[in-house]
Amino acid sequence: MRVVLLGPPGVGKGTQGHRLADEHGWALISTGEILRAAVAQGTPLGLEARKRMDRGLLVPDDVMIGLVWERTLAPDAASGFVLDGFPRTVVQADALDSMLQGRGFHLDRVVAMSVAEEELVRRLSSRRECPVCKRVYNMKSLAPMDGSRCDDHPEAGLVQRADDTESTIRRRFQVYWDETAPLFDYYRNQGRLCEVPGAGPMDEVYRALTVALGC
Ligand code: AMP
Repeated sequence: MRVVLLGPPGVGKGTQGHRLADEHGWALISTGEILRAAVAQGTPLGLEARKRMDRGLLVPDDVMIGLVWERTLAPDAASGFVLDGFPRTVVQADALDSMLQGRGFHLDRVVAMSVAEEELVRRLSSRRECPVCKRVYNMKSLAPMDGSRCDDHPEAGLVQRADDTESTIRRRFQVYWDETAPLFDYYRNQGRLCEVPGAGPMDEVYRALTVALGC
């Protein structure tokens, strides 16, 4: 199955997408994660992307489309994938359709997740990540066992993403409403959108997601 998870920063696309992909043997393709890895490695893509990411702005469409083009061709994506963070613009959504059509595939589902913005800001401000396995914690609602270190990698202290500061979070929301939210209507008008509430316990959100996907 080929699935897009759509929704604002912090809504839980990564957390839910991970579980969905793991349980079904699909690849989780998180474009933010791919870019952060490029930044950490100091590649030319990473150096360019970082300037925009740190300011809460989008990386140009052609760069992102090329990146997803490559990544979706990898063997682990052959039986299916969950896209987290792509598409983020109408140009990217059009490119994704053409890309899949050119390979004889189509998107099976687009799932939109939503949560009130103030709750999202709270979630993002207390979000921390393990630098080794990239597991995401929340210091208020999903803290690690010892309070500050990854359960599986206690040698590594958790880190805050550079773009999870309050001013950058606000900018990312602005960009989200301007550039990404129009994708709700884009997919709704094509009859391809299912909507799932992103608030509430994680297991409940996951159940709603699997019902929406019929899997
Ligand atoms: P995320 O982890 O999805 O919140 O993405 C972090 C940052 O990476 C975003 O704020 C953008 O700067 C960049 N990014 C990730 N995915 C995309 C995309 N599809 N298009 C443009 N920029 C992206």
